[in-house]
Amino acid sequence: MDEKHNDSTFSERRASRPYSIIVVGAGIGGLAIGLCMRKTGHDVRILERRHEITEVGAGIQIPPNASRILRRFGVLGEVMKYATVLERNSLRRWKDDEELGSVPLVPDIEENFGAPLAVIHRADLQRILLDAAIDCGCKILEDHEVVDIDKKFLPLTPSSVRRLLVRSRGVKTWMSADVILAADGMNSIVRRKMAIASGHDDQLVPAGELAYRFLLPREAIEHDEKAMALLSKNHGMRYMGPGGHIMAYPLRNNTLYNVVLVRKAESEQLQKITWTTRAKKEDIIKYYRGWCPIIHALISHVPGSGALETPMNNMPPLPTWVKGHIALAGDACHYMLPYVAQGAANALEDAGTLAMAFTCTDRIELALELYQFIRKHRSEWIQASATSNGYTLHLPDGEEQRRRDDSIRAANIGSGTNPDKWNDKKTREFMWHVDVMAETVNEFESLAREAGLKKT
Ligand SMILES: Cc1cc2nc3c(=O)[nH]c(=O)nc-3n(C[C@H](O)[C@H](O)[C@H](O)COP(=O)(O)OP(=O)(O)OC[C@H]3O[C@@H](n4cnc5c(N)ncnc54)[C@H](O)[C@@H]3O)c2cc1C
Repeated sequence: MDEKHNDSTFSERRASRPYSIIVVGAGIGGLAIGLCMRKTGHDVRILERRHEITEVGAGIQIPPNASRILRRFGVLGEVMKYATVLERNSLRRWKDDEELGSVPLVPDIEENFGAPLAVIHRADLQRILLDAAIDCGCKILEDHEVVDIDKKFLPLTPSSVRRLLVRSRGVKTWMSADVILAADGMNSIVRRKMAIASGHDDQLVPAGELAYRFLLPREAIEHDEKAMALLSKNHGMRYMGPGGHIMAYPLRNNTLYNVVLVRKAESEQLQKITWTTRAKKEDIIKYYRGWCPIIHALISHVPGSGALETPMNNMPPLPTWVKGHIALAGDACHYMLPYVAQGAANALEDAGTLAMAFTCTDRIELALELYQFIRKHRSEWIQASATSNGYTLHLPDGEEQRRRDDSIRAANIGSGTNPDKWNDKKTREFMWHVDVMAETVNEFESLAREAGLKKT
């Protein structure tokens, strides 16, 4: 077996020196970081501002670059009990449901990338990560909201930056650790405070798009033959149209159908840049009026309470992810549009990379610099791919759209590149093949030299 794919090479590695670590945020990113750091020997506390760790949301895709890391930290088996392996991905036109391409995923993906591609309910993934983190000894502190970081040391002695002001049950106290890993999401307070201290203008830029998400239980669509046909097949369905695209697939052993609809936002929606709210069913129906009957059918099953509505943003690359002994991770530093399904996968890469970096050296600054060196440029590239994919998927009908569709047809029979980056060979190679844990370990010496970093 290729050394890169020999999991024990990585899972048996231990921290050069165990540290006390605070992870901020118990989302997919924070839980994965806690798990990976604890499993390699550190003492881990995870602070979560919510009173209870639950996940709403809907489906999430676990691509090979993420499933490989889950496997090395011992949770992929449990994940796969709840996940669905998609057999094909179908690319279609919005108006007439014409299939432009259908890409096989089984067994090609696992064979080519050494790990499976699956989809899962977010709540299942979050629960599995939480249980695994608790089982291996992470302390999870709910109702612990980080409200500030100890700025006074920031510009002076970076090694002192490791205190957080935390509010719990209304009381604020300082908590400290050797290392702070902030995975507190796209509205990260740690990122904001680091930016203020460095004079950097930290801004999310509205992408002018939003996503609706809903799950259709089998019982709700049993009478609808077409919707049931979609539910019963393990196919990913991608519909492309002017100003929007739709991604849909079955979950939980074909008992739930997951639908994500992306569309252009109207001006007042552009202002709501941060939070997930609920959209009215009639607004969804109105926007997708001209789309093909199967889309109408799916939307007609949205419950009266509506669907989740999440505004889309762009996050300009940050000057740095690391300040002293604090590092950002997950959406906090590389929030990306979900158009290549890589946000959580990249947070898992952060977790794997951080854990490996601390097995290479006991110098905290060096480990965090190595983490940034391996991850920052890569995730910015993927962020940019996601943004440009939005442009491609949302083309209005016309000359450019016809060229896109011709290229998709050609790529389907093996010639040329697929303009949909998720389906494009080269982009897949980069997103799914690169093994960041292997890069961290194998190239520590040379990367440290290249980056001008001194070894322990
Ligand atoms: C429509 C849509 C579809 C997507 N599909 C995919 C997909 O198929 N595949 C994929 O890989 N990614 C996908 N993503 C992206 C993925 O959901 C995110 O990238 C990922 O969940 C980010 O995880 P995170 O842990 O970094 O952040 P979050 O999930 O935002 O977690 C942050 C946590 O920190 C907590 N927190 C925040 N502030 C504080 C504080 N001050 N103190 C303490 N705790 C705090 C929050 O309560 C939260 O629990 C999708 C995203 C969207 C919107």
